[in-house]
Amino acid sequence: MAKVVAYIGLGSNLATPQAQLKAARLAIAALTGTEEVGFSSLYRSPPMGPQDQPDYVNAVMAINTELSAIALLRDLQKIELDQGRVRKDERWGARTLDLDILLYGSELIDVPDLIVPHYGMAVRAFVLYPLQEIAPDLTIPGLGLLSDCVAQCPLDGLVRMSK
Ligand code: ATP
Ligand code: MG
Ligand code: MG
Repeated sequence: MAKVVAYIGLGSNLATPQAQLKAARLAIAALTGTEEVGFSSLYRSPPMGPQDQPDYVNAVMAINTELSAIALLRDLQKIELDQGRVRKDERWGARTLDLDILLYGSELIDVPDLIVPHYGMAVRAFVLYPLQEIAPDLTIPGLGLLSDCVAQCPLDGLVRMSK
């Protein structure tokens, strides 16, 4: 089956975030027909929304996968649950792990459970800067050059933690 390059945004601000991202990276790379082809540095970022929660650790991972976009979403949600994510009513509340599909090849997807490119990626420093690190020449379907998005996006307190 033909494989697709997809980009996943990882975030955590509970239960040792760096360990959460490391475990998620291994779990994603172990998905059916999937291999890692890129992983950014780790970044620290202040929370979006409710401010009474710890800073986040974020990264972006590139994979080559034979999974469909929906199958990938379901598998990522299972990894979130496996790593103790509790879904609450509060939007953008603290969580052990958030795995968002940023891009799936050059596809535009808009079905009830899945919107790709991720709706927030064009204005989120914690997505754009790590993504630029691993895919500097990327064009985002419907949005244009990643480098243009980065140029228009302030750092918003984002700090690179490690290589
Ligand atoms: P945000 O989406 O603003 O980053 P969040 O990641 O905290 O917030 P979640 O609670 O993780 O939001 O997901 C809410 C819903 O978003 C999920 O049930 C999922 O079906 C839907 N969703 C839509 N598009 C995507 C995508 N590209 N990646 C992941 N989930 C998505
Ligand atoms: Mg998210
Ligand atoms: Mg999410």
